[in-house]
This record gives sequence, structure tokens and C-alpha cells, in this order.
Amino acid sequence: MSKVALVTGASRGIGRTICLTLAKKGYSIIGTYNNSKDKAITLEEELKKLNTDCLILKCDISNELEVKQLVTDSLKKFGKIDCLCNNAGIAIDSLFRDKTVENFKKTLNVNLIGTFLVSKYVGEEMVRNGRGKIVNISSTNGINTYFPMCLDYDASKAGINSLTHNLAMQFAPCVNVNAIAPGFIKTQSETELMDEEYIKNEEEKIFLRRGGTEQDVANLVAFLFSEEADFINNAIIRIDGGTYGSF
Ligand code: NAP
Repeated sequence: MSKVALVTGASRGIGRTICLTLAKKGYSIIGTYNNSKDKAITLEEELKKLNTDCLILKCDISNELEVKQLVTDSLKKFGKIDCLCNNAGIAIDSLFRDKTVENFKKTLNVNLIGTFLVSKYVGEEMVRNGRGKIVNISSTNGINTYFPMCLDYDASKAGINSLTHNLAMQFAPCVNVNAIAPGFIKTQSETELMDEEYIKNEEEKIFLRRGGTEQDVANLVAFLFSEEADFINNAIIRIDGGTYGSF
């Protein structure tokens, strides 16, 4: 039987490319969406064209009941989840003086609590099975601070890094838990408010003089899920092309 991978936030951007990359490597796919139902439908169509056995489900990862239902429905169809990629995330950019407690709580609820909830219910199942791999999509913003308007996002991603270390210990010795910390990745949602000059300026800060692609991140997720990466555990891996001011 093929390996089963669950990817949250699969409707758009990096998550969608992760699903398609894993599908091309023979995985069965469980992909989640929250609001983008239309995009989720087109993802399902693309996966079916690749002859991938898949399940596309609505799940707000910050809602515990929806997460429990996601795991129940996934196990009903596939009987197991081998790999989990906690990719879903939000960023609400605003100046410090405009930051509200509601903004802050929303970012933490989705990015940090959501990652915790999915990891908890899927991870417990992996431990029962005696094996599994979890990759959390963090950010270089969880390691270094670049923009003051991202403080809630940065805190949520630093929290994901800490959660990664804790879960690696918690689910040992049968589940590998790692995090990927991308830098500037040119997804639609990341670049839609940037003009060409702004993007060029961002790329000048990168040693390789280019922003990352969704595929760059998806390739690393696929590697971490592969047997070649079986001894990689408890790591926070930067994928940012080398960025000035990031260490
Ligand atoms: P994106 O294009 O904005 O996609 C975000 C995904 O998360 C969507 O599929 C969205 O689903 C889902 N999502 C949002 N809120 C959700 C919720 N409450 N419950 C479940 N799913 C939810 O983002 P991206 O640029 O691909 O980024 C993906 C991940 O990489 C995020 O964790 C982000 O923080 C991280 N990252 C990105 C960059 C970058 O430069 N792009 C850099 C570092 C880290 P719906 O559309 O269906 O609502």
C-alpha cells in the first residue's frame, strides 16, 4: 500500500505544490482547505489526473472538533497516516499601534494552536502505529526578526519551532518531527501586495539573488518524508537561499 500524507492548507501556495509533488512520488494524499473551496476542487481534479488516491476535506485547523473529524475521516478512508505536513498558516500585517489582541489571538490560534491540534491527533495515531513523520512549516521569521509589523506572526513561528522540539521528544522514538523555516517564497499571497521594485529589493537581500519557489519547499518536504532522511529529527531547517541578516 502506498504511503499516506496529510497536508494542511493544501488549497493554495506551498501546500498545494507539496500535495502535487508527493502525489508524483506515489503518495496517497489527504489535503485540507479552509475557505478556498473552488481551489480545493481543482486540486482534487489535478490529483485524480495523476491517478492519486486522495481525500480533500474542509478543516479549520484552529477548531478542535474539525481537526478530530479530519483525523476520523482520514483513518476511515486510508486506515493510517504516515506523514503529516503542518503547512496551513496566516499572516496579518499591521503596524504595532494597530495590532489588536484579536489579531494576535487569531494568528496564534491558526499558526500555533492549529499546528498543535493537528500534530496531537495525528501524532497520537502515529505513535499507536509505531511510525510516522511530521514536518512543520515554520519561517525564518521564527528565528530572526525582519519587519516590526509581523510580531504576532514571528511569535507564532517561534512557537512552532519550540513545539517541534517538544513533539520530537514527546513522540520519540517512533515519529520524526522536524520544521522547515522558509525565507522569501514567491507565492501569490506573499507577493500580491508587492510591486516589482519591492520584490527586486527583497531578492537583493538573498545570497542567491532570487526568491524561493513553492517547489523549492515541496522538494525539502518530500526529502524529509523519504527514508533517506530517517536520521533527521528535531531539526529546524532554513530554506532561504542564504539571506543577509539571518543566522
Ligand atoms: P497561502 O498561499 O496564503 O496559503 C495558506 C494556506 O493555509 C491556504 O491553503 C489556506 O486555506 C490555509 N489556511 C489558512 N487559514 C487556515 C485555517 N484556519 N485552517 C486551515 N487552513 C487554513 O500561504 P503560503 O505562502 O503558501 O504559505 C504556506 C505556509 O508557509 C504558511 O504556514 C506560511 O506561514 C509559511 N511560510 C511562507 C512563506 C512565504 O514567503 N510564502 C515564508 C515563510 C513561511 P484556504 O485558502 O482554503 O482558506
